[in-house]
Formats: sequence, structure tokens, C-alpha cells
Amino acid sequence: MNDQHTPFESTISFSASAIVPTRYGDWEMSTFHDVQGNEHVCLTHGNVSDIEGILCRYHSACMTGEIFGSQKCDCGEQLDAALRRIQKEGRGVVIYLAQEGRGIGLTNKLRAYDVQSRGYDTVDANRALGLPDDTRRYDDANAILKMLGIKSVRLMTNNPEKLRSVREAGLLFDREAHLQPVGSIAQRYVQTKQHRMGHLNGSNEESQPLFHSEFESFLNAS
Ligand SMILES: [Zn+2]
Repeated sequence: MNDQHTPFESTISFSASAIVPTRYGDWEMSTFHDVQGNEHVCLTHGNVSDIEGILCRYHSACMTGEIFGSQKCDCGEQLDAALRRIQKEGRGVVIYLAQEGRGIGLTNKLRAYDVQSRGYDTVDANRALGLPDDTRRYDDANAILKMLGIKSVRLMTNNPEKLRSVREAGLLFDREAHLQPVGSIAQRYVQTKQHRMGHLNGSNEESQPLFHSEFESFLNAS
């Protein structure tokens, strides 16, 4: 079950910061820790403080997809696209959250992959193992944005829970669809996210940003 709506007080605190030159240009990389010791990473490109509508990605860690190029999910493509898009725009922020496998961790994620190899989708595999569908939280990311002095963001996402969290924190300016082309293996994962977890379809006309009135009806309906 998702506990996204229970009260949550962010305990995040700033730890360290430095400029890191990357293939996507120069980024200021900062670490933040919560009281449980989880280490989140914030990357900013260009000046982002005191500005409305900063391009932003909340991205949950996916070692399999981002480091080892797993084709089971679209995480690597999504992170790459977010960094490229921000580099092109000249400013933006990526918050990289330590919540691997939608929060169940790498070991449980591999257990679930093994169950999936017997024909289960990602939701049913987790449930077969007694694991939650999604335990990710975005409160810490919201707190980081506020620490940076960011007024509001255009969030690159298809995930309604991210939109809801950022909106409730008073930080949502707009949504930017963020669906990347993926191979046939990841396609099933993307479809499961859309059909079973309410993720938005970013293709065709729906790839246009949703505006405020559309957010209202969309969030109220979900
Ligand atoms: Zn992934």
C-alpha cells in the first residue's frame, strides 16, 4: 500500500556540495541526509533560486537501469533525458532519491524480478512476495527544493503521486510529460505503470503539459 498521504515531517539536512563537470555540462552536486541515514543527491544546473517554473526531475535510484543498463525499465532513459533537457534549457534541478526499486531496495527488487520471470507483472510480483507496490515518498525532495529557494517547478513526470506531493507542498507550476522511447522488454513495465499504477501516458496530444484546471480535475479524480 502507498502511504503517500500520511503526515510526514521531513528530517532532511544538507551535508556537502561541489561542482561536478559531467557529459551534460557543469552541475552543482549536493548531498542531503535524513535521520535514518538515507543519502539523497541534488543536482542543479545554472541559477535556480528565487525563480518560478524551474525544470525539475524527482528521480528514484535504479542501480540496475542506470548503472548496468538493464532493459527491464525506463529509468536510465528517463534520467538521461532529464539531464539533457535541463542542459539544453540552461537551468534546472534533478533530485536523486535513495529509494531503489520503488522503495523496496535492490535485494527485494531482484527477488521480484525473479518472480516476474515466471509471468507476473511488477505489481503482482511484489504482492506475491508480500512487498508493497510503491513506498516512495517525495517530502524530502520537496524540502530540498525549499532549501534551494526554488519557488515552483515544471515537474518532468508521468507519476500522479509525484504531482500530488509537489502540488501539496505548494511547489507545482506545471507538469512536463516525460515518456521516453524504450525497448520491448521495458515496454511492458511502462504499460504496467500506466494501467495499474495510474501513470500518465506521455504520447501524442497528452504529451503537452497539463495546466492548472486540468490538474484539478485529474487530481480530484485520482
Ligand atoms: Zn529502473
